[in-house]
Amino acid sequence: MSDGATLQIVLLGPPGAGKGTQAALLVRKLGIPHVSTGEILRGEITRGTERGDQARVFMEQGRLVPDELVLDLVRGRLASSDCEQGFLLDGFPRSTIQAEELCRMIAGRTKRFMAASIVVSDEEIVRRLAGRRTCTSCGAIFHLEFEPPRQPDACDKCGGALVQREDDREEVIQRRLRIYRRDTEPLLDYYRAKNRLLEVGGQASVEAVQSQLLAGLGLRS
Ligand code: AMP
Repeated sequence: MSDGATLQIVLLGPPGAGKGTQAALLVRKLGIPHVSTGEILRGEITRGTERGDQARVFMEQGRLVPDELVLDLVRGRLASSDCEQGFLLDGFPRSTIQAEELCRMIAGRTKRFMAASIVVSDEEIVRRLAGRRTCTSCGAIFHLEFEPPRQPDACDKCGGALVQREDDREEVIQRRLRIYRRDTEPLLDYYRAKNRLLEVGGQASVEAVQSQLLAGLGLRS
């Protein structure tokens, strides 16, 4: 058994696999920071930074943001003191180049490293993402089918406007999936070859997937 404070976790899986949900539960349990590159990039866009401007067009089209920009953001984030005792990366790395850079970034740190992959079929992903709605004020996430808000266009928590993320439109989802299969899926072999890969089925309930993750990572539920 290991405690989370010594873990560096990479969460892999196609868009809509439930990485964000599982990550939030894991970091709460383990007390390590949740580093989501998608969230960081959306934050840059909201703040109207130059990086946000550069990233926006790629994100809206469901394409990967150029490595240089993402690597810079991740390097900065992992250098923060709260990441010294471990972290959970969600949405990064997304390509072999990013994985190799990550390896260099954390070289010399003695923490235990694991990549956990959440496996979900393409059909299920389209169903999940097409119904997802996000609050423009507080970021809360709803689902028209699985977690419907009381009103279809208003947040239950803060009353803010609920919108569909530009990249959750069906044609964009299909592109994101193709890019995942082409650029990110090879990372499964990359981490398997290093004996660092844990695979869990993502079509069970949120709690069941969480239990599989905790057990596979050698942590208590
Ligand atoms: P996510 O919230 O993880 O689904 O990310 C949303 C979008 O942000 C992706 O479709 C990409 O356009 C961009 N993005 C997030 N993480 C990365 C990354 N590691 N490399 C390149 N682009 C990324």
